[in-house]
Amino acid sequence: MKALVYHRPKGVSVDTVDDPRLEKPDDVIVRVTATAICGSDLHIYNGFIPQLRPLVLGHEFLGVVEEVGGEVKKLRRGDRVLVPFCIACGTCFFCQKDLPGHCERSNPERYGPEGGILGQKGGGLFGYTDLYGGYAGGQAEYVRVPFADVGPRKVPDHLTDEQALFLTDILPTGWTAMDWGEVKGGESVAIFGCGPVGIMAAKCALFRGARRVFLVDREDYRLHRARQLTDAFAINYETEDAVDIIRSMTGGRGADVCVDAVGLEAHRTPVDKLSNLVHGQMGSIQALKMCLSAVRRGGILSGVGVYGMPYDNFPLGQAFDKGLTLRFGQALVHKYVDQLLGLVAEGKLRADDVISHRMPLSEAPRAYEIFNAKRDACLKVVLLP
Ligand code: NAD
Ligand code: ZN
Ligand code: ZN
Repeated sequence: MKALVYHRPKGVSVDTVDDPRLEKPDDVIVRVTATAICGSDLHIYNGFIPQLRPLVLGHEFLGVVEEVGGEVKKLRRGDRVLVPFCIACGTCFFCQKDLPGHCERSNPERYGPEGGILGQKGGGLFGYTDLYGGYAGGQAEYVRVPFADVGPRKVPDHLTDEQALFLTDILPTGWTAMDWGEVKGGESVAIFGCGPVGIMAAKCALFRGARRVFLVDREDYRLHRARQLTDAFAINYETEDAVDIIRSMTGGRGADVCVDAVGLEAHRTPVDKLSNLVHGQMGSIQALKMCLSAVRRGGILSGVGVYGMPYDNFPLGQAFDKGLTLRFGQALVHKYVDQLLGLVAEGKLRADDVISHRMPLSEAPRAYEIFNAKRDACLKVVLLP
């Protein structure tokens, strides 16, 4: 089959690789009909999350069940399914606690309680390096899906692939950010990062009744698109003082909830780059720092942007003085996917309007380039195998 294979930083190609096979009796093989590139894929693409051997990338995908393992009860050949990006067994300690990203059984080689840089990670993820189980991902014609009675959800006939695709990741990620932020109605919510995840978080905040939602980024075309798609107040932090504006519109206090929807690839200044050299670290906590400033005392910082390394100079004193609650992690896709699928099916929440590019899988390397460089007003790419 054809698949998008990561070889080295910035080195991805569409290769012919072996078709996936059923390996365990609770596996299915899915023929992918739509897949997308996530901001998280860029962390691998840009070398911030290491991967030494070639690996098929992709963790946002949907398709048709082609082959079914002997012990699978809920799926049949021909079912159209969306597949959550975390691989969860459904029965372990953490799966029972609705924490699928921490599944104890899906990443046997590298799992552990420590959460280190290169080991003792969380549960398995599709197409997300050997650290997270080394599973081949969904930017491919076919993909093997383990624990097939746990993750995949059947897609109602009246929804298109594109309407359902983002239930695998970015929509539940936006919802998780609001859940951690305890957004129930009436809050002010400032979201840093106006990529697909930030926009999903804004949609979820508004759906849950937030009084005022801010979206902060440095890319005008993304802020412009966000104004078209949501009622969020969009701020370019390069040309305006975002923290000042957020405070001035929240009684001088700051937002009740701040969301980091940027992660370690926040735009770096020359000082950040120098600091990285001095501290031997990669990436930046710039977005996190902006959140710590923009959130009100006693507020919640809800972090869905991905971080990998330790960082010196983390403003812990500020978090202490302000009495903040900090929450981070992988989205709780399995926990929310059914509720969100219902809302999408009823037309109450929409995610597919962030798509800016549709390209054949054969053009995936160019798609990565465009999305990474934010060229051509790229916001979200769907790849069609
Ligand atoms: P993206 O790269 O498309 O968007 C990131 C945006 O952040 C860009 O528009 C960029 O201009 C902006 N940005 C850079 N520095 C900034 C700063 N200091 N302040 C504000 N904005 C800044 O990525 P995405 O697909 O929207 O994903 C966003 C983050 O969420 C990534 O880190 C991704 O890995 C992560 N993610 C996490 C989960 C999860 O389960 N926790 C799921 C999906 C994505
Ligand atoms: Zn993702
Ligand atoms: Zn589990």
